[in-house]
Amino acid sequence: MTATISEEQERRLLDSVPNGLLINGRWRPASDGGTLDVHDPSTGSLLKTIASASVADGEEALAAAHAAQPSWAKTAPRKRAEILRKAFELLVERTEDFALLMTLEMGKPLADSRAEVAYGAEFLRWFSEQTNRIAGRYQTAPDGVSRLLVAKRPVGPCLLITPWNFPLAMGTRKIGPALAAGCTVVFKPAALTPLTTSLLAQTLIEAGVPDGVVNVIPTRHAGAVTGPLIRDPRLRKLSFTGSTEVGQRLIADSAEQVLRVSMELGGNAPLIVFADADLDKALDGAMLAKLRNGGEACTAANRLLVERPIADEFAERLTQRFREHTVGRGTLPDVKIGPLVDADTRDKVERLVDDAVRDGAKVLTGGQKVPGAGYFYEPTVLTDVPAGAELLREEIFGPVAPIVAFDSEDEAVEMANDTQYGLVAYAFTKDLNRGLRLVERLDAGMIGLNTGIVSNPAAPFGGVKQSGIGREGGLEGIEEYLETRYVGIADPFAGLG
Ligand code: NAP
Repeated sequence: MTATISEEQERRLLDSVPNGLLINGRWRPASDGGTLDVHDPSTGSLLKTIASASVADGEEALAAAHAAQPSWAKTAPRKRAEILRKAFELLVERTEDFALLMTLEMGKPLADSRAEVAYGAEFLRWFSEQTNRIAGRYQTAPDGVSRLLVAKRPVGPCLLITPWNFPLAMGTRKIGPALAAGCTVVFKPAALTPLTTSLLAQTLIEAGVPDGVVNVIPTRHAGAVTGPLIRDPRLRKLSFTGSTEVGQRLIADSAEQVLRVSMELGGNAPLIVFADADLDKALDGAMLAKLRNGGEACTAANRLLVERPIADEFAERLTQRFREHTVGRGTLPDVKIGPLVDADTRDKVERLVDDAVRDGAKVLTGGQKVPGAGYFYEPTVLTDVPAGAELLREEIFGPVAPIVAFDSEDEAVEMANDTQYGLVAYAFTKDLNRGLRLVERLDAGMIGLNTGIVSNPAAPFGGVKQSGIGREGGLEGIEEYLETRYVGIADPFAGLG
């Protein structure tokens, strides 16, 4: 597993990835000849050039999804389940290919990529299992006379838009439930990381997904291509994962057709450590919540709130662990932190840290970008971060841990909730009652209690406040792709005497 990857291996894999758009079961170039270059963030070099969908291509993809919708909805649940199950198996078989491809186009170390393949594949298995459990109900109305029949139906053609930070899992977390529910899709991956989606689509076709059910349109013109689809009455649902800013715009655009929307948006997770916590476990949790995916995760701990009596020791021991993390190209053995995804992302991290330091924060380790090719930033621990620092309010999206001390549970809760986001909060304490109080008091869609990771395909993932609308995964995930139909029935015993 730790063998060095050769250039030839990389080239062979890149050559095997389709370079077209997938529309109605056929890979083809863009109608206007447009292309999209995909780069390696660890070197800045070109990996592959693929087709970039035009507005006309987007419309054709929606037409294909719309045409395929009735027959896919009618396909037996068992059959849909088997296709998803087969896709899960193929994906697991191809773990090394998917992992390497994600490392190449997104930068994360191979170990992180392999973990994402396991996580991402699981959504296909989980939702294959849910396919056969879509249920309704039949009941006698409270008056004892009429009857109520409630049935679930697929929403219809969906537009799926995903970000670059988890190129595989953000896709399977939407495609799995959409296909399970009987919906067809048009899928627009992030322009920075479209190759993983192309390989995923190829795998889905091999697993038996019929023509037109999954259409893939990478593009350099996200707004121009998806805008007309969102305004098209044939589209019935938009599922978006990305920044709050873009999500807000898409919610507004969706109002015109009153589209069903699911929004998985930004986060600003607090990670709270109480003096009574098991410090080793809290440090393990903090490492995971902060450095998984290099800090480029919506669930990343953005603020480490530590009770004052242990704040210095916690900071010192966290610094030690950060220093042990090797930074480098994700394909190299022992590398724990890859590059940030592009220059803009690294520049933002640099600016947030520099501003905090200028205003009084102390750097315990890191604090600099790594000179040379690629977009590397040193794993960084900051203390004495001033209350008004922008990096406590903004998503950092990098390997930077700002530590802030607190004096009481009330103060910790107030600080934790002082954000417009509400995706996830982490808390470490051995006091069961305190843990339960925090579960009730923290404003977040998800809470990690004595753990630094909450993502689990069997659990409902999602946020409150400006972190989103709806849930992905769990029993709730498939509901996002189902409509409820109610049938009122007159008393079937009427007139029998
Ligand atoms: P982003 O800039 O909002 O982009 C997300 C997706 O939206 C990309 O495919 C992007 O295409 C597309 N897009 C951008 N502008 C658009 C427009 N006007 N119309 C339609 N589509 C548009 O976010 P990102 O930088 O890729 O991802 C990072 C963000 O995602 C962070 O805020 C993170 O917290 C959030 N995130 C949330 C979750 C969650 O589950 N809550 C999970 C992962 C990430 P291009 O690539 O072409 O720009």
